[in-house]
Amino acid sequence: MAIIRDGICSAPADLWAPLVITAGKLGGMPQLPFSSPDGFVQLTLAEAPGAGHWFVFRGDQLLVEIGPPSPEPTDDLRVRIRPSWARVPLQKNNTGYDPLGSKALRTLYLGRLAGIDCWATEVPRDTDAPAGMNWEGLRTLFSVLDDTHLALAGRAIQLLDWDRAHQFCGRCGAPTAPKPDERVRVCPACKLSVYPRISPAVMALVQRGRELLLGRGAHFPAGMYSALAGFVEPGETLEQCLAREVLEEVGVRINNIRYFDSQPWPFPNSLMIAFVCDWAGGDVTPQPGEIEAAEWFDVFHLPRLPSKISIARGLIDAVAHQMRETYSRNGGAKGIE
Ligand SMILES: [Zn+2]
Repeated sequence: MAIIRDGICSAPADLWAPLVITAGKLGGMPQLPFSSPDGFVQLTLAEAPGAGHWFVFRGDQLLVEIGPPSPEPTDDLRVRIRPSWARVPLQKNNTGYDPLGSKALRTLYLGRLAGIDCWATEVPRDTDAPAGMNWEGLRTLFSVLDDTHLALAGRAIQLLDWDRAHQFCGRCGAPTAPKPDERVRVCPACKLSVYPRISPAVMALVQRGRELLLGRGAHFPAGMYSALAGFVEPGETLEQCLAREVLEEVGVRINNIRYFDSQPWPFPNSLMIAFVCDWAGGDVTPQPGEIEAAEWFDVFHLPRLPSKISIARGLIDAVAHQMRETYSRNGGAKGIE
């Protein structure tokens, strides 16, 4: 039973400790951006090329057919303006896509989406876009480009980056070669196999009663806070990494770790694995040089949050939604919202 004092709910510990957070069940969260789309089959060889979607990159920018700027404000503090629409070019026959004058530095076959071939190609950074098209970053294209195409663009840019970075063997220096039926480059001299590299990173949303612990790095847009995150080190479990990162970044100990969801994150090659956990002790002490600020925020008064492009927002929204329901039901929100 919650104890209500001055309109503020101070609930007993068992009201929040056993929260079971399951992605998709809370807040009606759809599939996260960059997750492999339904109907996509990953392949490395195009046996009978037909119509194709072409994911053409110049650096980290994707070639798209594009509409005029949208008057709608963006939900991403890092994106000033979005186009009203954007489309990945579709080549209707199997003659290959070449509006850029054979400038491709590398081309990879990604697989088939609903029966249509998908290709990734990289062109030099000084390549101009053909008429009616433009180069845009993936953050800008979130919510504008078809979700399935955005997801494949995220896959394409990572594979192009891997292919570019492993033309030579990191062990003996000999030129590597792709294996036709597998996504791997192999060194013919020393037999080293280099697969696309994924860097796992954990994300922690720490809960204390009706408060959430959020922090900001120096590179964050002004006023924005998010859940804490860090890369997994060799020899760590995800749970160990979570406890270490939170202790290092803000000096807080945690327990009762619950898995939330994961998201492929192509900036540049992470897999974000998100958890909810409880505060188990320690005062918030931001790590100098890493965390600019970190605070406990009342769940009814959260600061500016990241864009819905990231799992951070999905995590915070889902947990905050459940906490608000819990505290509203118990009278905690009276007089607040
Ligand atoms: Zn080698």
